[in-house]
Amino acid sequence: MNLTSSHPFWSVANGLPANYPSLQRNVSCDAVVIGGGITGALVAVHLVEAGVKTLLLDKRDIGTGSTSASTALLQYEIDVPLRELIEKVGPVAATRSYQLCRGAIGKLERLAARLKIDCSFKRKPSLFLARHQREIPELREEFKLRRKMGIELEFFDAPAVRARFPFSRSAALFSKDGGQVDPHRLTHGLLAAGRRKGLEVYDRTKMVNLEETRRGVRVTTHNGCQITARRAVIAAGFESKALLNIEAGTLKSTYALISEPLPAISGWYQQCLMWDSGTPYLYLRTTTEGRVIVGGEDENFVNAKRRDALISQKTRTLAKKFGRLFPDLPLEVAYAWAGTFGETKDGLAYIGVHPRFPHAYFALGYGGNGITFSLIAAEIIRDYFLGRTNRDAHLFRFGR
Ligand SMILES: Cc1cc2nc3c(=O)[nH]c(=O)nc-3n(C[C@H](O)[C@H](O)[C@H](O)COP(=O)(O)OP(=O)(O)OC[C@H]3O[C@@H](n4cnc5c(N)ncnc54)[C@H](O)[C@@H]3O)c2cc1C
Repeated sequence: MNLTSSHPFWSVANGLPANYPSLQRNVSCDAVVIGGGITGALVAVHLVEAGVKTLLLDKRDIGTGSTSASTALLQYEIDVPLRELIEKVGPVAATRSYQLCRGAIGKLERLAARLKIDCSFKRKPSLFLARHQREIPELREEFKLRRKMGIELEFFDAPAVRARFPFSRSAALFSKDGGQVDPHRLTHGLLAAGRRKGLEVYDRTKMVNLEETRRGVRVTTHNGCQITARRAVIAAGFESKALLNIEAGTLKSTYALISEPLPAISGWYQQCLMWDSGTPYLYLRTTTEGRVIVGGEDENFVNAKRRDALISQKTRTLAKKFGRLFPDLPLEVAYAWAGTFGETKDGLAYIGVHPRFPHAYFALGYGGNGITFSLIAAEIIRDYFLGRTNRDAHLFRFGR
């Protein structure tokens, strides 16, 4: 599968911070992680830090799958609003899922700081904008439910929005907890740190077969090498579904652009993350270099050729929508790209064992906050390896 068009920003801007050998021999380990994006990197670091002998492989260069296309807004807000998630999974599971995502942002921040990873991590508040007046009662209810579970947020009415931004909206929710990062540098930084602790990393090494054995798994690579492991971790992103023929969410195409650095960004309150209530939603963030990222315009197909043919048109639409919000900010598009994206019915990730693969743990962070789910997956999978009970694992199980 072609996960991204040819110029997602991060991998172009960062180049290849490191390349790794491909696997050329048979090996055995405790854990073999399939996939070297942000999810595989987080899982692998959690495992080596817990003393698990871990090997990670990727069929591409490290971090050049969906991770390189990610706009990397770190949000606790799941694509499904809390009030709807309560209806789908019940109040306890819904509230806990929101709490876990909120906690994941702080954990990512602390992990990057502890491992001294230069990845432009920044704490940012996040603003959810209503598109229509009729959404005000829903937003008020969402506000109350989130406040009740201890989330710090403010309800902005129309004058409050107008006082902080150059556009008008009938209402918005302003949350303190959010963040942003360069996901490509974070991934490389995690793997570099993991290697210092004994992690083996191989790129351009494709898993072509995953075989369950009596005691674990046997992974065969494209060049015939075999990896024998106690457990496999499938962190192969949106390709996992086709790779192992499992049911896990729906795939789509999505679009993003990044601007040239702007001389100044004014009229954008706290340079917060922003997204709106549209289907698909429009979202925005800034970068430490003063660039603006705009994303959205999703399409319900994955065909890469069809997807990429729409990049110019989608870029124009995204730029136009940005111009309506910030007419005084001169946005000059530097890069535009498209990527595959996944969604689940309840907006939650799939993490854990799939009935067909009892010796494999899946880490599939689908949805708009895939990266926060990656951190949650890393903790759950580490606990599985250590034989610890993780009281949150059931929230993300297959077949829920
Ligand atoms: C345009 C766009 C915007 C996004 N914005 C956000 C956002 O703002 N916030 C957010 O949290 N998330 C966002 N996401 C989602 C986020 O990017 C993903 O959740 C995240 O990157 C998934 O990381 P991953 O490591 O699971 O997958 P990937 O980065 O795709 O890594 C999986 C790796 O597995 C490898 N692989 C696959 N098959 C095999 C095989 N057979 N053998 C070996 N290796 C294999 C691939 O080569 C790949 O490198 C966005 C996604 C896109 C496309």
